Amino acid sequence: MIPRLADVPQIVLDARAVVFDKDGTLLDLDTRWVAFFTGLVDAALDTLGALSVRGEVLAALGVGSRSLVPHGIAAAGTGSDVRSVIITTLRGAGHDRYRAEAAVAAAYDSAPMGRLSALGDPARVFRALRDSGRRIGVATADDRARTLTDLEGLGLTGLVDAVNCGDDPVMKPDARALTDMAALWEIEVTSIVMVGDSRHDLATARAAGAPFILVGDGGGSGGEARIDTVDEIASVLASDATRE
Ligand SMILES: [Mg+2]
Repeated sequence: MIPRLADVPQIVLDARAVVFDKDGTLLDLDTRWVAFFTGLVDAALDTLGALSVRGEVLAALGVGSRSLVPHGIAAAGTGSDVRSVIITTLRGAGHDRYRAEAAVAAAYDSAPMGRLSALGDPARVFRALRDSGRRIGVATADDRARTLTDLEGLGLTGLVDAVNCGDDPVMKPDARALTDMAALWEIEVTSIVMVGDSRHDLATARAAGAPFILVGDGGGSGGEARIDTVDEIASVLASDATRE
């Protein structure tokens, strides 16, 4: 049983930096991504005349009609993981590899994103962390271009000190996603707390030796504390400021 953050506030109060996952942590995973993955698959398969394998491709990606399968490729994988699963499924159905690669690449770049919907009030949380002298990082499996667009959409541009993305040379769950930020900020990685909703995030924290705060119920994931939204981090900082 993972304790609520309100019951173990030192995890945040002892931290000198907080690194957040993006999708499912700062923004609603399903409203943002179900439309994108469905549009991506439909466009690629339509180009190839392969709509008969639509259900198989969506299942392999972990894309439902209204939500993504927790910890599936679509929910937790990088863009490269996603493209490779679609192409593998198409090849299994007898489609030409090079035509499949071209169709998937074109569809990936043009599929429309769904609505950007914040979980809680990340901008307020980030300002509270910054005002308390803590560093803020974002570590995401998403591509850098879209990550920067999303951070802007959430009002977080200028509040984030470092960003690690799925198209960087190292990425989650490699420990360097966190240890590189610790080196940049000249702090111990153990004084960073990682906040995320997936097993990938937990694995990253464990690999680096950093404490982990789980967002949501996590479906069997672990961690040192649990929150419903990042707003609870601001609450911990506010109650500490009141006490002083
Ligand atoms: Mg996530």
